[in-house]
Amino acid sequence: MKVLVPVKRVIDYNVKARVKADGSGVDLDNVKMAMNPFDEIAVEEAVRLKEAGSVSEVVAVSCGVAACQETLRAALALGADRAVLVNTDVELQPLAVAKLLKALCDRELPSLVICGKQAIDDDSNQTGQMLAALLDCGQATFASKVKLEGGSAMVTREVDGGLETLSLELPAVITTDLRLNEPRYATLPNIMKAKKKPIDTLTPAELGVDVAPRLKTLKVVEPPTRQAGEIVPDIATLVSRLKNQAKVI
Ligand code: AMP
Repeated sequence: MKVLVPVKRVIDYNVKARVKADGSGVDLDNVKMAMNPFDEIAVEEAVRLKEAGSVSEVVAVSCGVAACQETLRAALALGADRAVLVNTDVELQPLAVAKLLKALCDRELPSLVICGKQAIDDDSNQTGQMLAALLDCGQATFASKVKLEGGSAMVTREVDGGLETLSLELPAVITTDLRLNEPRYATLPNIMKAKKKPIDTLTPAELGVDVAPRLKTLKVVEPPTRQAGEIVPDIATLVSRLKNQAKVI
């Protein structure tokens, strides 16, 4: 059984994003990039399923610029068997990525796709859902536990007020939540081994997908600087401030 894991190259979560001076986007020059944290969780889950004997092959895929190869090498070092880069310099939007992944699924025929629930750069939370729609298959988003049983997957999701467990017929799409697992660190020997694992490169045209952006970013601005807090002496002052100054009560 094959699992496909889409991994996105994003700005490292430790880096404070800066907006470009002309407001056209986020400044990525000389910024540390890394694998989207939810995708690390997805790779970890796929590798654990392989280690448990339920999965035979883990294929990582990244769509974007040539530097996404670094992200794919990181996935290979975590235990993916091989990788595919869908190479394009066009800024990809979730629908374009979902279409590319659908075209790749038609070639690779995975039984399961495990995506991150969202990419921490655009925070879209759309790609996995759109992919499931394009594949016309079941989806379980925000998974906190995954168990494979025969031809189905039992997925536990955190919902308001409790846990929901879904049974999905495979093939299916699962998106990972933070509590699904704690990804391992890649060991040096595995990083070295990853250099020898294969990365195939394809283009959107080879997959027959038009990735032209459908959305236009009008302007990107920094959030307003947070005002300093103030300690008030008593409740009466607090109520008066909320009423007369903040005007929220
Ligand atoms: P988003 O819908 O943009 O929040 O992304 C959700 C998930 O889709 C990510 O966690 C990845 O698993 C996958 N994904 C999004 N963009 C890409 C990309 N360019 N390459 C590979 N996977 C992606």
